[in-house]
Amino acid sequence: MALHVRGVLLPDDEVRDVWLDGDRVTFDPVPDAETVADSGFVLPGLVDAHCHLGIARGGTPVTSLDQARTLARTDRDTGVLALRDAGSPYPYPELDDEPDLPRLARAGRHVAPPKRYLRDIGLEVGAAEVTAAVTAQAAAGNGWVKLVGDWIDRGVGDLAPAWDADTMAAAVAAAHAAGVRAAVHTFSESAVEIMVKAGVDSVEHGTGLSPDLIDLMARQGTALVPTMINIRTFGGIAAAARPKFPGYADHMLALRDHFPEVVRAAHEAGVPIYVGTDAGGGIDHGLAAEEMLLLHEQAGMPAVDVLAAASWRARQWLGFPGLVEGGLADLVVYPEDPRRDLRVVRAPSRIVLRGRVVR
Ligand SMILES: [Zn+2]
Repeated sequence: MALHVRGVLLPDDEVRDVWLDGDRVTFDPVPDAETVADSGFVLPGLVDAHCHLGIARGGTPVTSLDQARTLARTDRDTGVLALRDAGSPYPYPELDDEPDLPRLARAGRHVAPPKRYLRDIGLEVGAAEVTAAVTAQAAAGNGWVKLVGDWIDRGVGDLAPAWDADTMAAAVAAAHAAGVRAAVHTFSESAVEIMVKAGVDSVEHGTGLSPDLIDLMARQGTALVPTMINIRTFGGIAAAARPKFPGYADHMLALRDHFPEVVRAAHEAGVPIYVGTDAGGGIDHGLAAEEMLLLHEQAGMPAVDVLAAASWRARQWLGFPGLVEGGLADLVVYPEDPRRDLRVVRAPSRIVLRGRVVR
């Protein structure tokens, strides 16, 4: 049965009637539609632009589709109706069009340097094998490749780029040649410089961004997914590493402390920013609202820009059209105006995914 929703539509800021006819949005009345919301603020379904359905709590790969489904439903039940999986050790293409799960933009496995990255998560390859690995993982995902651009190098005792600069640039080129976009994990200053200059499509975390690189990202349209929830864990990482790697520990703390300023500067420069939680492994699913609040409260992004970063702009970026004629029938309704008080996003009053009421 078709659904009907009436409320203040964002971002247009107009009271409108919307009908959801199957999995399509229409502004033409559909007879006999069931009204599922008649007031409040209506947004296109939220997006978690960086999470992992293939990594279980604790950091081990999931071992069944049902485990991945459970994680996806946790997000869905908070209003996250599309997500980008930023690297999965467990393939789950079967879930791409599953009716009760969020829409999926997926990378294949993380392409990572040998013997440095999280155990059992990445496909670990030396420089000579990077482009072939990228091509293979482009085929394993559905539009994205995930590169691990840096990690601790225990020989150096600090963060270091995953491979030499030419190899990292070739990895981006290989993703583009395969017809997909490339996302890169970076914490350090050196790796993010290589990757932004190589034309990577999205920087994940990006704690090492300088003002010059931020300007370049803005000019290129390179996206930033800050994952402020993840950066909050740097204190624990530094404490655990300090006995053996004090320089690394100090570096991580400095990156963490400077990060709200980095995100603020990126937003002010016009870098496209998206909401991502990095759920999976050490971070729980279902925290998109908390990431939104961190972007607002710590990085100073205006509430309406945070909403754009979590909803209509993120959907457009990933190719999931929102509340436009013919758009996809995903929406969330809030009882109060989230632009006035962003904390409202913690408690949607209605969630509709693919034209069906979730709650
Ligand atoms: Zn991640």
